[in-house]
Amino acid sequence: MTAVAHRWTGQGVAPGAAVAGSWRADRPIPAGTVHIGPNEVEAAFAAVAAELEQAAERQRQQGRSAAADIVEVGALIAADPDLVDSAKQAAGAEQPLPAVRDAVESYATVLDSLPDEALSQRAADVRQVGRRVLERLAYPDGGRDAPAGDRFVLIATDIGPADLIDHLGGGLVGAVAVRGGANSHAAIVARSVGLPLVTGIDPEVLDLPDATDLLVDADAGTVVAEPSATEVARTEAASAHELERRGRLAAERGLPHVTADGQPFGLYANVASDVEVRLALESGAIGSGLVRTELGFLEADRWPGEADHRRTLAPLLAEAHGRPVTVRLLDFANDKIPPFLSPPAGLPSLLANPAALTAQIRAIVDLGRGVGLRIMVPMVTSPDQVAPVRAIVNAASVTFGVPAPPVGAMVETIAAVRDIDALCQVVDFVSIGSNDLTSEVLDLDRIDPRARTELAAHPRVLSLIGRVVAASNAAGLPPLTVCGDAGSHPTTLPLLLGAGVRSVSVAVARIDETRWRLRRLDAAECRTLFTDALRLGGAGEVAALVEERIEVAMP
Ligand code: PEP
Ligand code: MG
Repeated sequence: MTAVAHRWTGQGVAPGAAVAGSWRADRPIPAGTVHIGPNEVEAAFAAVAAELEQAAERQRQQGRSAAADIVEVGALIAADPDLVDSAKQAAGAEQPLPAVRDAVESYATVLDSLPDEALSQRAADVRQVGRRVLERLAYPDGGRDAPAGDRFVLIATDIGPADLIDHLGGGLVGAVAVRGGANSHAAIVARSVGLPLVTGIDPEVLDLPDATDLLVDADAGTVVAEPSATEVARTEAASAHELERRGRLAAERGLPHVTADGQPFGLYANVASDVEVRLALESGAIGSGLVRTELGFLEADRWPGEADHRRTLAPLLAEAHGRPVTVRLLDFANDKIPPFLSPPAGLPSLLANPAALTAQIRAIVDLGRGVGLRIMVPMVTSPDQVAPVRAIVNAASVTFGVPAPPVGAMVETIAAVRDIDALCQVVDFVSIGSNDLTSEVLDLDRIDPRARTELAAHPRVLSLIGRVVAASNAAGLPPLTVCGDAGSHPTTLPLLLGAGVRSVSVAVARIDETRWRLRRLDAAECRTLFTDALRLGGAGEVAALVEERIEVAMP
């Protein structure tokens, strides 16, 4: 088969771009009878378990404990006696390989159907372990080695975290998968190690012969087979430039967090996984100003229980040991409503389910003893919504024998701003969610492509932000944090500083750039900018003013 020049579009789930020869990791199982029996099947599972255990150990030795834990899940699955037994029984069939594959698939399907979200996520891990076992059985001479000494792009139907980790430092420069999304373990690992990964690509990509030139542009979400020399040169130049830029931004990690005119600022990270926490701390963030706890439960078919919350939170809070961490309660609102809830869901649905609220708070309070814990209520619309949360937090603190953590509110609705003085009397801190606030003020849906971060520069949004900062300071609360994306956007960051904001919590990948910018901004100049911006007519005019007045030299 010869490859035709071809271009596919998918979803870039870990940023960056790379060009190299392709290598298909999950080669098809050969048709026809292969003579294997239960002993070979058992040995293949044992070998896969050992291989994944070693990969996990290597990660641990390199200080990547979160990645090690992810890979170790695969090792445990490969040693699961029920899975191994059902595969061994299948080996008696006339066509043993397809029968073993079917046995693994039915095991995965059972997990898929379980109401426990965390267990059903394991189905993908089972399929990946099964794939490794089948490859060992089908290619006993070890024919699945990646191209020795060459740079390559890994292609597979499903990509597991171990597939990436196996080949780190061994020429792997990018990956393409037919299935999987931004929340998959592979995507988390890819982001953590800086490998571009595009998922959701047409299965015909699997038919490319190995060593076909492949361009993966995860920033654009595209994959191009046999790209032109111009496209290759453009991508390579952009990757080299990006690498150098990131290096220069990262070089300021140890420097003091103060603005050009000496105002101290707080720099925190928005996270949803332990891998992000580790990266955030490596990037010099103080801690996390927003843990999005709902992201692991967006496909759930019931309220997560205490055990579900413990499973997702434990690794994250362990990784953040000793650091300040603001954990947000489940925010099932707007574009984050799981199938078991009907819109508008949000905070009222959580408050109407005290058992669900208690389950989450108990898990947070108990597991949060090793961090500087704060608990944050999302989408608050009235000061009355805080008391029931605080009551449960206090009760849980008594149960677990720990001091009650501060309870704060996200200010991200117009109603909350309207009642901000009263709200500040019943909370221990506030944090501004500029994403939702901007959408509501400008009447845009969160998923509307016009709802861009820089619209927070609209004078109507800015004036609400200014009001919240003033109320929080007047009430003597600790300096508020902006945890929406405006906290890291070049247009809105100077305006926030001008509004009096001295702390931001930003996406992990934005930490270095945000520090770079804040260290070069003059808070007094930004104050004048903010005051002048309030008099303008729209976000575009404000952006032009920022452009005219603020110049931060970037690498
Ligand atoms: C926000 O609305 O600004 C925010 C940080 O919350 P989320 O984006 O998770 O809704
Ligand atoms: Mg929000």
